[in-house]
Amino acid sequence: MGILDGKTILVTGVTMTSSIAYKVAEIAQQEGARVLVSNFGRALSLTHRVVKRLEPSPDVIELDVTSQEHLDALADVLRDLGVERLDGVVHSIAFANPETALGGAFLQTPFEDVSTSVHVSAYSLVSLTMACKPLFGETASVVGLTFDARVSWPAYDWMGVSKAALESASRYLARYLGPEGVRSNIVAAGPVDTVAKKAIPGSHSFNDIWAERAPLGWDASDATPTAKAVVALLSDWFPATTGEMVHVDGGLHSTGA
Ligand code: NAP
Repeated sequence: MGILDGKTILVTGVTMTSSIAYKVAEIAQQEGARVLVSNFGRALSLTHRVVKRLEPSPDVIELDVTSQEHLDALADVLRDLGVERLDGVVHSIAFANPETALGGAFLQTPFEDVSTSVHVSAYSLVSLTMACKPLFGETASVVGLTFDARVSWPAYDWMGVSKAALESASRYLARYLGPEGVRSNIVAAGPVDTVAKKAIPGSHSFNDIWAERAPLGWDASDATPTAKAVVALLSDWFPATTGEMVHVDGGLHSTGA
């Protein structure tokens, strides 16, 4: 018996085996879910390759969250793959221009780049959820991923602002879709050595901060604790939890300087 037995889950953002979403897909399958994964553009061929390591190898969907066409077609694409009901969706997507919106250029970032970051990293939580909604049953669970944006971090800049928007958007999803049985929650992970993290100039300093301050310690090479929390929130074990942000950060958020 797994905690996701009988559930069908869409996991976005699987590019490499290092992707947090890959680990989520793996554990969700181990817990009994049928998993479908998505990614976009050039990385799609990588996704097709990495999912072959999963057993069974999940269906892969092309989904650029900035494409209204892709979002409009999503429910039908899922139906064509035999999905009658979707029980959960994992938003594991973020992008900001590393040259202009990350790494210390915060005060000079043009709005165009801010807009891209917020569109891909925050607004898409809502547009993705609404695209999946036609397939939701009596209950459904939406889970997103943040790097705790209640505070500022070195170099994180407009991604930090976008994550604050993501965290807030999740609370509004919880408000508006709660009456329809949809829960929306966020996992605030510590640093995980993925492609997205490596694209942030100076992001190695996060590992130093965690090494110094996380009471439980922290292994940035292992997405398992983060993925387990995502899977738990997808399951029926948090039936009355929504609009929440769960920290999976070795306890760092609870410490002072
Ligand atoms: P990742 O493997 O690079 O995943 C990010 C994903 O976003 C990639 O699959 C990327 O696709 C996808 N993406 C970007 N633009 C997209 C678009 N327009 N439409 C659809 N997909 C798009 O890195 P990750 O660290 O696992 O990131 C997953 C999530 O965890 C992100 O929300 C990230 O902010 C969050 N998070 C990460 C950390 C960390 O330290 N790594 C900590 C806390 C939270 P491409 O590969 O094709 O660009």
